[in-house]
Amino acid sequence: MGKILSDIEIAQQTEMKNIEEVAEKLHLTRKEIELYGNYKAKIDPALIPQRENQAKVVLVTAITPTPAGEGKTTTVVGLGDAMNQIGKSSIVALREPSLGPVFGVKGGAAGGGYAQVVPMEDINLHFTGDFHAIGAANNLLAALIDNHIYQGNALDIDVKRITWKRCVDMNDRQLRTIIGGLGVRTNGVPREDGYEITVASEIMAVLCLAEDLHDLKEKLGEMIIGYTHQNEPVTAHDLEAEGAMAALLKEAMKPNLVQTLEHNPAIIHGGPFANIAHGCNSVIATKTAMNLADYVITEAGFGADLGAEKFIDIKCRKAGIAPSALVLVATVRALKMHGGLDKKELGQKDLVALEKGLPNLLKHIENAQEVYGLPTVVAINKFPTDDPEELQLIEDKCQELGVNVVLSDVWGKGGQGGVALAEEVVRLCDEHTGGLSFVYEDEASITEKINAVVQKVYGGRQVNLSKIAKREIAKLEKLGFGHLPICMAKTQYSFSDDPKLLGRPTDFDVDVQNVKVSAGAGFIVVYTGTVMTMPGLPKVPAANHIDVTDEGTITGLF
Ligand code: ADP
Ligand code: MG
Repeated sequence: MGKILSDIEIAQQTEMKNIEEVAEKLHLTRKEIELYGNYKAKIDPALIPQRENQAKVVLVTAITPTPAGEGKTTTVVGLGDAMNQIGKSSIVALREPSLGPVFGVKGGAAGGGYAQVVPMEDINLHFTGDFHAIGAANNLLAALIDNHIYQGNALDIDVKRITWKRCVDMNDRQLRTIIGGLGVRTNGVPREDGYEITVASEIMAVLCLAEDLHDLKEKLGEMIIGYTHQNEPVTAHDLEAEGAMAALLKEAMKPNLVQTLEHNPAIIHGGPFANIAHGCNSVIATKTAMNLADYVITEAGFGADLGAEKFIDIKCRKAGIAPSALVLVATVRALKMHGGLDKKELGQKDLVALEKGLPNLLKHIENAQEVYGLPTVVAINKFPTDDPEELQLIEDKCQELGVNVVLSDVWGKGGQGGVALAEEVVRLCDEHTGGLSFVYEDEASITEKINAVVQKVYGGRQVNLSKIAKREIAKLEKLGFGHLPICMAKTQYSFSDDPKLLGRPTDFDVDVQNVKVSAGAGFIVVYTGTVMTMPGLPKVPAANHIDVTDEGTITGLF
């Protein structure tokens, strides 16, 4: 057996096609794409004709994440290739990776093994500059806020209640809390401030939910930057900022076209955080993909309790789209971890641990079927240590719920390893008669919405609101934000708000500390704990091993 190649080695061994050739597969003319070098292009959605028969959207989500890894992006990319192999026109629609984490803990966001999107170095680094544009727009608003205060503060902004932060696309804990405006009078007004990572900026969520430039501008204007001394919200529109911000974002609004290792089209666009935001690619990219192919395969961040719930209750609700099928990715290893095994013990066959961990998968299946009403297939992302008896046990348990289990080996074999999954996905899409249920209705109160998610999706008893949360909910409902969907910021490692409760916990309450409105994005963020919006670097950052040769070849990127 040869040496196992790293993701970047596999990617660099593949000879890419010029992006025009990939665009041709989608019947995109040269006029409809804008080239960014030879292998990347932007698509102008305004030039793409609307299709009558809308494509089928397939949502790839996963069991509750563990340190053993699940492989959602890998499955999306491999499934896209497999769909094309069985003759179905399909596009994968993914998020853009954030630059900061690339240099932190090892872990890519462009798929893995033989199921990757390329050029992976570009996609993981600056790509087409979208995130830089978002950072610029974010920091323009920050500069306008402080300048407004310096120039006399006509809006009476309370400098102690500014919620807007500066941002940079880097893991830099040093910037979490800063004091700016020090020095002479003309250096501005001294105040405590801070930075978030660019993907946590509300502008990222806004860009991902905006339908077009007009809508983008409107949403940008509605973003709340802080409060006055009278506790009235101050918006970006009050600062006349939305026009200039939209101007900076004009190109970033266009979806990016790249290719998979098998030269099939992939659209990669937008990348909001999955905790304080909704964690999926842009509406504009999903809709563009739906106008270009029959099947659109897309991913939602974290496990299905967070990712799929937000995809449906936020993105689908706002965009008027609905998935036709759901792919639930699981690994034997991760299920054994849910059954109590340690990461070091995952190499061994253990049917007892697996059976103990399986309820996690089964609860996610129940949610897909009973809460959302979506046909579902379980994709077991194959690892060499998987044992046939372990796979059989998963299959048997899922069969009891009427769900098929398919082994996916796209990491090892590319599209060929996903043909069985693709066939099952097509079957589910064909059978699905439409319809999608939300977890709650717009009219429900904020507390009712949180309770609906806790009880129906997480399987918990109820929500306990802190005093602050109660006060904030009352304030937001009075300000007229009560009709907005909620965006749960909760640990991804458990159905509950306690990361240590693995498997399928029951009889738990969820504690909510605070709620905040993202008025531009149009959701209410519900905090079950503190959320870090500026990550740090680990003791040995991945940056230490990333390099570039004298010829310009990047190495060490995963
Ligand atoms: P997610 O999207 O769920 O976060 P990814 O698809 O990005 O997961 O995969 C995370 C990491 O795990 C990647 O580095 C990928 O190469 C690796 N990986 C995924 N599937 C497999 C597999 N079947 N065998 C070995 N490594 C895998
Ligand atoms: Mg992913």
